[in-house]
Amino acid sequence: MKVLIINCGSSSLKYQLIDSETEKVLAKGLCERIGIEGGMLSHTASETPEREARKIEKAVEMPDHVKAVELVIECLTDKEYGVIGSLEDIDAVGHRLVHGGERFSEATLITDEVIKAIEECNDLAPLHNPANLTGIRSCRQLMPEVPMVGVFDTAFHQTMPKKAYLYGIPYEYYEKYKIRRYGFHGTSHSYVSKRAAEILHKNYQDFKVIVCHLGNGASVSAVKNGQCVDTSMGLTPLEGLFMGTRSGDLDPAILEFICNKENLSISEMLTILNKKSGVLGLSKLSSDFRDLIAAANDGNELARTTLEAYSYRVAKYIGAYTAAMNGVDAIVFTAGIGENNSDVRQLVGDYLSYLGTGVDRSKNDVRGKEAVISYDEARIPILIVPTNEELAIARETVKVLGR
Ligand code: AMP
Repeated sequence: MKVLIINCGSSSLKYQLIDSETEKVLAKGLCERIGIEGGMLSHTASETPEREARKIEKAVEMPDHVKAVELVIECLTDKEYGVIGSLEDIDAVGHRLVHGGERFSEATLITDEVIKAIEECNDLAPLHNPANLTGIRSCRQLMPEVPMVGVFDTAFHQTMPKKAYLYGIPYEYYEKYKIRRYGFHGTSHSYVSKRAAEILHKNYQDFKVIVCHLGNGASVSAVKNGQCVDTSMGLTPLEGLFMGTRSGDLDPAILEFICNKENLSISEMLTILNKKSGVLGLSKLSSDFRDLIAAANDGNELARTTLEAYSYRVAKYIGAYTAAMNGVDAIVFTAGIGENNSDVRQLVGDYLSYLGTGVDRSKNDVRGKEAVISYDEARIPILIVPTNEELAIARETVKVLGR
């Protein structure tokens, strides 16, 4: 089956065409600045035994997402850059969706009724869900016959018990507004935790693993016997770890304090917590870990402190989740920083001697590939497992369609 994976943001659209039998990416690309002047499209057809990879980048105005999807189809079927003969060769579309609320605990076939239910979750993810829905509507308009599946970032975390997802606030807010912890990056946590069990030849249904998804957005999850029992993000992706530009956990009273001092509204303050905090805000430098490491190595004290604070918080979550699961069988790093940044992995590993484990410096010098990086006698393996959310969405899509 050829499955088109669509990840639609408010002004961007990422796509991959995956052959579900070989699990190979046939083509992928990105439309940027949709609805904004200066649109850009990049498309790459993967290398095959017959020909080299082919890439195009072009400036093209995309007034809306329908136009963007139209261009994606043109690229995929293009004589020179295409990988399929016609639209009919696309067997299914898998949409990445951010928030499925309590309604969706697994991937689901998209119907009119499902679209309505996703709309009802818009309140919980006002930036992401409407954009995701625009992607669905655009695809349905251009490919009305092709079955579509929605795969939710929140779904994998729906197994969290009440004690883990309730906030310590009046229960009526949960009853009235469904204020609770949902968690995100679920597709990644699910894929990576399963893959870790495979690599270690463990039974996933009898395996306690902590997954540290450390990317620009970052979250940790505790997966016990194949089910998520806790995760660090909450009602929104602002809770938990420090991130590139997000604050993560903080004392909520700070909001009022700063608002009063700086004469800011709550929504201005939230923009600061989402876009100007975390690694960027603390280091006064950059949200990108490559800049942070370079500066720390150059003697920048604040960059060093930021790096230490970041790693410390990851280590605290690992401690908490070891307690939550009454033990842990493996700890896994994934996503941009987790896969590529040996400094963060080393710093986090230095906190784990109480578990009888740690990172072996000589094994830690790897980037972007599966590896066990704990020292040989370690009681608990520490791994790198590159995440692959698109492949996970393709697999879910095939599963839902029963093919
Ligand atoms: P993601 O959101 O998963 O794409 O991750 C983005 C983060 O990964 C950024 O902070 C990057 O600095 C970091 N990152 C990506 N590639 C590398 C690399 N080769 N070395 C160190 N950090 C990297």
